[in-house]
Amino acid sequence: MSAPIIGLTAYNENNKYGHPIVALMQNYIRAVSEAGGVPVLIPPSAISGEAVTALLKKLDGILLTGGGDIAIDRFNGEPHPRVGGVDPDRDTLEIGLTQAAAESGKPFLGICRGFQVVNVALGGTLYTDIQDQLPGAIKHDYDSDSQRQFLAHTVQLEKGTALAGIMGETGLTVNSLHHQGAKDLAPSLKPAAYAPDGLVEGLELPGHPFGMAVQWHPEWLLDQPVTRRFFGAFIEAAGKG
Ligand code: MN
Repeated sequence: MSAPIIGLTAYNENNKYGHPIVALMQNYIRAVSEAGGVPVLIPPSAISGEAVTALLKKLDGILLTGGGDIAIDRFNGEPHPRVGGVDPDRDTLEIGLTQAAAESGKPFLGICRGFQVVNVALGGTLYTDIQDQLPGAIKHDYDSDSQRQFLAHTVQLEKGTALAGIMGETGLTVNSLHHQGAKDLAPSLKPAAYAPDGLVEGLELPGHPFGMAVQWHPEWLLDQPVTRRFFGAFIEAAGKG
């Protein structure tokens, strides 16, 4: 078996000279490489339809990465002053890719923003700010005031889910770098992990070879054997495609 080619979605940014560049945190690339995949970056251009199908054909798996918020018009979301970093082109690309991957059985993994993309792409909605909209919410937005490896809260894994099977655990302690979260789940998705406040932090698409998403950032937790198993299972599924 040749090493599976994994497409990782990237984002637009300006470099130190103010020039526009495409970027991605290197931990995602490391996570894919060290699990045996070949990472390729996908820039956030507003491709859809046949172009997405053509792109997907060349890839063995998709990793939907973290980033800014999804535009609220994609899921009829409530406006909120903390909604930020919106890139409509990236939304178009990632929503199209997710829908095509879900339909075609191409393995996909959503992380943080990618978790939210998976839910929205398949018909779910989001809290546009957890703190203000989920009563009794614990702190999930550790973005600016802590290290990205900081283990912020536990998640309970749902018995019998594919995610729990891969992890081989009933619960995990995870990092938490998000201010938005899944509100109504897409009808086709199954919750696979819950934070202590009831927020869904793991999702999977039953019947799909590997359709999963997590709200935390496993790419910052590569020293954990359980995280290695998770990325390993993704790359293994992609290798079978
Ligand atoms: Mn969280």
